[in-house]
Amino acid sequence: MPNDTLPILRLKKNEDRRLRAGHIWIFSNEVDTQATPLTAFESGQAAIIEDAKGHVLGTGYVNPHALICARLVSRDQRYVLDQSLLTHRLNIALALRARLFPEPFYRLVFGDADALPGLVVDRYGDVLVVQITAAGMERVKDEILAALSKVIRPTAIWLRNDSSIRALEGLPSYSEAAFGNVPETVELVEHGLRFEVRLRTGQKTGWFYDQRMNRARLRAYAKGARVLDVFSYLGGFGLNAAAAGAASVMCVDSSAAAVAGITRNAELNGLSDRVTVEQDDAFELLRRLRAERERFDIVVLDPPALIKRKKDIKEGTLAYRRLNQMAMQVLGKDGILVSCSCSYHLARESLRDVLLQASRHVDRFLALIEEGHQAPDHPVHPAIPETAYLKAFIARLLPN
Ligand code: SAH
Repeated sequence: MPNDTLPILRLKKNEDRRLRAGHIWIFSNEVDTQATPLTAFESGQAAIIEDAKGHVLGTGYVNPHALICARLVSRDQRYVLDQSLLTHRLNIALALRARLFPEPFYRLVFGDADALPGLVVDRYGDVLVVQITAAGMERVKDEILAALSKVIRPTAIWLRNDSSIRALEGLPSYSEAAFGNVPETVELVEHGLRFEVRLRTGQKTGWFYDQRMNRARLRAYAKGARVLDVFSYLGGFGLNAAAAGAASVMCVDSSAAAVAGITRNAELNGLSDRVTVEQDDAFELLRRLRAERERFDIVVLDPPALIKRKKDIKEGTLAYRRLNQMAMQVLGKDGILVSCSCSYHLARESLRDVLLQASRHVDRFLALIEEGHQAPDHPVHPAIPETAYLKAFIARLLPN
């Protein structure tokens, strides 16, 4: 279909370079608004994107109210974000996951890195959770739902459209069933363990699939160990350690709902005898454990993003350092620390430095054993550094 019916968005001179080098976002100051005023576009409208000389770069969608005022959808101008392109890209995304995972529990779509900017889909067997974060995706919501129905045949879809990013796009915040009966809880399987998850009220889209591989790596260290899982959520790390033979596991989370979930998941897997659960602030609990001279063989730290914006880097980095120091202080002589950060603004090297500084502060010898990343159902777009956000280090701490 030739797209001579689509409106044109023209970039200023040289502003096509980043796109030609692989990026897909366009910022509002890069648009030649004399030639193609942004105000002429409706929120989420499809457009042809051109360079300053009128050469076509591809098709995309426009949001005149957002700083990222357009995203490239295809470099072939014959394609726009309609049901057929959505179906095609969903099938491609599905093919990767089906190859990777034996069971239908995974992130099916990870936005830009699956060529579906502004769309996230998590799969819980026959139930899908969809999160839309861009006006261009919201505009084709019905087509997305139709395409998902065709590709996955789910029994229900929950729209978890309450992310704070939506405000930047001028989109309302809501959470509702798109169709079908969304059960209060669903069960997923990971590394042979069963986890019960609350889709409507759980954190983010219900489960942190991004930590799957790092949880598997923890298993290698767990046999016979006393384990402390801080920021446990539903017990992801802790229960994997228990299943892999840990002598005892203490799971900590400040949320009452999470703590109830850990208890339930420990029961589901017959691990209650070795798992204890504490509802407490991580910093408070670590302080108390140290005062009580408790020692662990393994400590897992998986905090929520402590740096949300660039301007919080300094303060947030200090928080990571304090947390890692406190974790090291409750580690036994030959201890393993699994230290994670999902803050994009904390670079991998900075987390490594945080660990080094913390180890110096507590006067321990630090060796980095393994590095972890987000799981492969969260692919990275090589031109968009923001898509690589999860870091994990497995470190050994010895006496100096
Ligand atoms: N490790 C989990 C994911 C952790 S998400 C997994 O593998 O799935 C971060 C968790 O930290 C959330 O469950 C949140 O409730 C909890 N949390 C946030 N602030 C906290 C604090 N100050 N103390 C303890 N837990 C906290």
